[in-house]
Amino acid sequence: MTIIAVASHNQGKLEELKAMAKGWPVRLIGPDELGLVLEADENGHSFDENALIKCRALHEKAGGWVMADDSGLVVDYLGGDPGIHSARYAGSGATDQENCRLLLDRLKEAGEGERRAHFHCSLAVISPGGQTELYHGRTGGTIAYEARGSGGFGYDPVFIPDNRQGTLAELPPDEKNAISHRGQAFRLFLDQQFGRPADEERTQ
Ligand code: IMP
Repeated sequence: MTIIAVASHNQGKLEELKAMAKGWPVRLIGPDELGLVLEADENGHSFDENALIKCRALHEKAGGWVMADDSGLVVDYLGGDPGIHSARYAGSGATDQENCRLLLDRLKEAGEGERRAHFHCSLAVISPGGQTELYHGRTGGTIAYEARGSGGFGYDPVFIPDNRQGTLAELPPDEKNAISHRGQAFRLFLDQQFGRPADEERTQ
């Protein structure tokens, strides 16, 4: 079993990643379980840069296998916003509800066909030997007219993935993880590093 430290204090993210790791020979642990506080300055200009900043900061403290994802919502009508500022769109310390409300407000003039968006995930991984890799994932969809559902976190209640009727927050966690930007990037890493486990192992 390989232990991987995850550079995130976001419980929603950690829970999703832990659920997706089931059936793989890995155990994910967050900074809280390691007794560490992350102090990485997310001042990069891209998802990749921010993922690397967080990953390196934890690697310096924890060593071993470390991973960090930087993700966010990219809305065409807003020229790519909130993008890398997704977590603090409505101001530093803003709640998920405040961020969603501001997003819906900024899109109130946007009609059908103008509400395209996607989630992006950059996942940085550093091996015990210090080798760094980046993996990416993307989920396309549209922004709803109002928030719906109570699952997930962040912008899930206002994001309707392609080929679905409801928002991400209305999908069962397994279904979100199967299509999510974070799921895609994480599975790329797992497949490359550990190979694909037998289906029966994965569902245990
Ligand atoms: P990060 O922790 O700096 O990567 O910021 C990620 C932010 O992007 C979160 O706080 C959410 O607002 C948003 N976000 C990222 N992934 C998701 C997701 O899967 N669902 C909803 N919002 C997300």
